[in-house]
Amino acid sequence: MEIALDQAIPSYGGGLGILAGDMLRSAADLELPIVAITLAHRKGYFRQHLDAEGNQTEESDPWDPETVLQAAPSTFTVQIENREVHVRAWRYSVHGLSGFIVPVYLLDTDLPENSEYDRTLTDTLYGGDQRYRICQEVLLGMGGVNLLRSLGIKGINSYHMNEGHAAFLTLALLEETLKLRKYTVPVEADVEVVRRRCVFTTHTPVEAGHDRFPWDMVRQILGEDRTNLLQQSGFANANALNMTDLAIHFSRYVNGVAMRHGEVSQNMFPQFPIHAITNGVHAATWASPPFHDLFDRQIPEWRRDNAYMRYAVGISLDEIRKAHCLAKAALIKEVQKRSGVLLDESVLTIGFARRAATYKRADLLFKDIERLKAIAASAGPIQIIYAGKAHPHDGGGKALIQRVIQAAAGLKDSIKIVYLENYNMALAKFITSGVDLWLNTPQRPQEASGTSGMKAALNGIPSLSVLDGWWVEGCVEGVTGWAIGYDSKVDGDDSAAESASLYDKLERQIIPMYYRAPEAYSEIMRSCISLNASFFNTHRMLSQYKANAYSPRALIKMAQEV
Ligand SMILES: *Cc1c(COP(=O)(O)O)cnc(C)c1O
Repeated sequence: MEIALDQAIPSYGGGLGILAGDMLRSAADLELPIVAITLAHRKGYFRQHLDAEGNQTEESDPWDPETVLQAAPSTFTVQIENREVHVRAWRYSVHGLSGFIVPVYLLDTDLPENSEYDRTLTDTLYGGDQRYRICQEVLLGMGGVNLLRSLGIKGINSYHMNEGHAAFLTLALLEETLKLRKYTVPVEADVEVVRRRCVFTTHTPVEAGHDRFPWDMVRQILGEDRTNLLQQSGFANANALNMTDLAIHFSRYVNGVAMRHGEVSQNMFPQFPIHAITNGVHAATWASPPFHDLFDRQIPEWRRDNAYMRYAVGISLDEIRKAHCLAKAALIKEVQKRSGVLLDESVLTIGFARRAATYKRADLLFKDIERLKAIAASAGPIQIIYAGKAHPHDGGGKALIQRVIQAAAGLKDSIKIVYLENYNMALAKFITSGVDLWLNTPQRPQEASGTSGMKAALNGIPSLSVLDGWWVEGCVEGVTGWAIGYDSKVDGDDSAAESASLYDKLERQIIPMYYRAPEAYSEIMRSCISLNASFFNTHRMLSQYKANAYSPRALIKMAQEV
């Protein structure tokens, strides 16, 4: 549903879209033949404004595909509520290192042939009500298949659904299968034919991330025949249409996005084997300019083959420190430009930037304000940079931003804290490369993977994080960063113990090391690159999709298993 293609195209909301974009950038670098489909989102996600009290207001973030993209040669229709909705597509080209191109098609219904309502269907990412959302998902899933057919793209070996948003594509494939056999009622063998072609990745254990539509709405939008088809192919007893269940049911391979998330998803969906492929980031996109220069000089292979970042062990600590100082200076300049606040280059700078969802607990650091003040006064000074948008309908997320901004105001005489507006890819590049410590405090086990800590690691920045998502794999205590909390098996709200651990680590280990043992801190920075950046990248991730999910051999094996 979202892909972060370019800083100038606001077609994404957060980590899911960034991941999709990074995956395609790696596919282009690795010359993997992939075609991607999303919606145009002419009004974007939204632009965030925050007032002094921390109240968020939103405005649309419009862009004109016609001024930046080429129109695809064909248009087609998708049936919604018994109407033929006309669709066109804009083509964006992701260029790989060798010039190989991965095309991305952005579907657009803003055509004069369509009704006023239908013209808005591809406007806003995650906007509108349930009816709007299901219409968008029909466009993405069924429209996506129509687009591929209208372009005449042949030889498709796998359809990869990133999240359940695209799961109606299985319905389009099922219809094609039935048509070929001239049947109207599906049998298990038809489901099987679709299943052999589909791969599904689930990206979150958080309830709100799994769309459910009541059957009467499904019937209204899809019509009687298509709804019956769904019910007859395995959903007769479901009391609503769960898009994740739909995607799993029709997939030969299903995976979560980190080892722990694979296990959590397996418990959520015990009836199917759920594998894991841990996420990554596109290294050349997320390394700051000073680290680009450093890697180009010292590890010239790093863009083509990210595994070579392992050889960062051979870079001198002094070079790492110098590159980091340049990235930090660039961030401080950007913060001043955006907020007027001048941070201090010599002070330990903590970063926390991600969607303001309640489970991410942006305010855990402020659980005990007096303790935090005392730490800054005795162990050494700190300054903190926050950023992140709350979904417009997420009251809890908005309240979280208010609590952070109000806590910051209360601390202004002892700790400088800025909350920057409108977190997006451009701002993320500055923050994830310029701070000294990346803080992450999700409530276990809700962080499926998290990727911003990987961006930080690529730039030599250690994480201080709850052991959830990728950090279960990435944390080597005192080597690549630090864990918050000790027992990674305890799930749920353990915020008193976790905040105590967070304060302890800051006070006794991190702040003292930063100020009194800078060599040791630089050593940790170097290990972040050699141990974590060399693994948590999308080149490695995509190779794993190829080996485990996409490859013809994996395909044959899966088919035999079922
Ligand atoms: C990387 C990124 C995210 C994802 O952050 P998480 O730590 O995975 O939640 C969200 N938004 C933007 C703009 C990003 O660049």
